[in-house]
Amino acid sequence: MSKSKSSQSSKSSKSSKSKKPKAARGWAEPADLALRPQPLAGLECASTPGWTGDRAAAEAQLAANGAALSELQEKLFADGRSGGTRSVLLVLQGMDTSGKGGIVRHVIGQVDPQGVMHRSFGVPTDAERKHNYLWRIRNALPRPGYIGVFDRSHYEDVLVARVNELVPPEVWGKRYEEINAFEAKVAAAGTRIVKVALVVSAQEQKARLRERLTRKDKFWKYNPSDIDERAKWPAYREAYQAVLDRTSTDTAPWHVVPADRKWFARLAVSQLLLDALTDLDLGWPPPSFDVKAEKARLEKA
Ligand code: ATP
Repeated sequence: MSKSKSSQSSKSSKSSKSKKPKAARGWAEPADLALRPQPLAGLECASTPGWTGDRAAAEAQLAANGAALSELQEKLFADGRSGGTRSVLLVLQGMDTSGKGGIVRHVIGQVDPQGVMHRSFGVPTDAERKHNYLWRIRNALPRPGYIGVFDRSHYEDVLVARVNELVPPEVWGKRYEEINAFEAKVAAAGTRIVKVALVVSAQEQKARLRERLTRKDKFWKYNPSDIDERAKWPAYREAYQAVLDRTSTDTAPWHVVPADRKWFARLAVSQLLLDALTDLDLGWPPPSFDVKAEKARLEKA
C-alpha cells in the first residue's frame, strides 16, 4: 500500500470525538451530538432533537444529503479499489414498524447499490446456530470501500434473546462486553460504525400495525408474532436501555432517533451517515499510471 493510502487508512481508526463537529444547515447542533443516548423513559418519540426546520425543510435537506452521500460513497468505493481499508457500517435496530426498511429505501437508496452491502438478520438458521452469535455478523461485515447496512444485528442477541430468555442471563449478560470488544476490533480494522436505535412509541406502532391490517398492499408486512412481541414492550424497553447504557463507546457510539415522524428519522440517519463519511476526509485516489504518457498512447492507438 502506498504511503498516502496508509495515512488515509489511519484516519479511520480515530474516535468520532477527534474532530470538532460542525452543525449542518437546519441543525441547531450536530446530529451526532443531538442524538446521543438519553433515558428512553423520557423520550418523546415524535420529537426532532437538534432539527430546527419543518417537514418540508427536512425533505429538502434529505435530498441535498443524498447528493453529497452519493459522491462520498463513490469516493469510498474508489478508495477501496485502490488499496484503502476503510468502510462504513450502519447498524439499524428498532422494534417492528420502527421504519428500518424505510431508512434503507429512502436513505441508502440514494447511493449506488453496487457500493452497498445490505444484510438483514432474522431468526438464526440451523447453520448459523452451529456457530457463536457473532459468526454471521463477522461474515456480513462490509469489505473495504463499501457501506454496510445491518437491518437488525448482533444486538438481537441481547434484545430478543434476553426478553424471550433464549439463553440464560449468564450467557446474554457477558455479551455486552463481548460486543464492545468485537466492535473495537472492527473499528480498528478501518470500519466506521454508525449505530442507530429507531424508537417508535407504542401508540404509533399500534397505528402502523393497524395500517398493515387495513391495506392490501401492506398485508405482506404483517406478522402475527408482532403482536406477541408488542405485549413485551416494557421488557424490550429495559433491554434497549441496557444496550444503550452498556454498548455506547467512543469508537461505536449509539444514536437514539425518535421515529414517530418518519421524515425526521430518515433525515437524522442520512445526516449521521453523511457526517461519518465526511469525517473520513476521502479524496479521489491518485492515478497509479503516468497520465501524460497514457494520453499520448491513447492518441496513437
Ligand atoms: P422485520 O420485523 O425486521 O421487518 P421480518 O418481520 O420480515 O423483519 P425477519 O427479518 O425474517 O422478519 O426476522 C426478524 C425477526 O428475527 C425479529 O423478530 C427478530 O427479533 C428475530 N431475530 C433476529 N435475530 C435474532 C436472533 N439472534 N435470535 C432470535 N431471533 C432473532
